[in-house]
Amino acid sequence: MREATAQFLAASDREHAKYDYEPDPRKLAELMGIRVIPGTKNKASKGPPALIQMARDLHVARWRFTLLHEINHVIAQREGLEEAIAAEVDEEDAEHHLEAVMNHGAARMIMPDPLVNIVQQMYGNTPQAIVNLAIAGQASLPAALHRFISSDVEAQRAAFITSGSYIAHVATCNTRLPFWRYERVPEIGLVLPEAKLFAVPKRLATCVGLVTF
Ligand SMILES: [Zn+2]
Repeated sequence: MREATAQFLAASDREHAKYDYEPDPRKLAELMGIRVIPGTKNKASKGPPALIQMARDLHVARWRFTLLHEINHVIAQREGLEEAIAAEVDEEDAEHHLEAVMNHGAARMIMPDPLVNIVQQMYGNTPQAIVNLAIAGQASLPAALHRFISSDVEAQRAAFITSGSYIAHVATCNTRLPFWRYERVPEIGLVLPEAKLFAVPKRLATCVGLVTF
């Protein structure tokens, strides 16, 4: 991983750990001395005083993630890392890269290491672990998929979500799958017999698969 990004993610995790992995982003902002006010767009400034503006019309589920994204901007600014993160890629990709790194920090706060470890201990290396991570973190299934797979950078494993006979999402680490996202795969068992499959409860035709090499 790129230097500034790795430094930032470590700082983001340290900050969250300092407040006992507070799951409520509003409380976390308060504990970190950041004021959150309504605004016309989403914006963060370390100040002082540290301030986050949040657009009013955000969907509730999205709101939580967005506030964590903005909290991560404040952490990056406090660490003096925003420019260094942006400078890791070509100028035309800089903004997109910085936003992606902040999203990664936010996803880690929604599903912090202790939570990932708990589901991993309870369910092992299985698709059930991914589904339960999403439930415990109140996160989306794709977010849990990526969080779970990226939690161990040494592992050689991949996971996917199917919707009917289509592959809806894919996450891989040190390996590749014999199919791509959006590809039609009517019989997973035929192309990837070693995959463990789990039908997501209450979600028609949605299945999570995991394969470890
Ligand atoms: Zn942003």
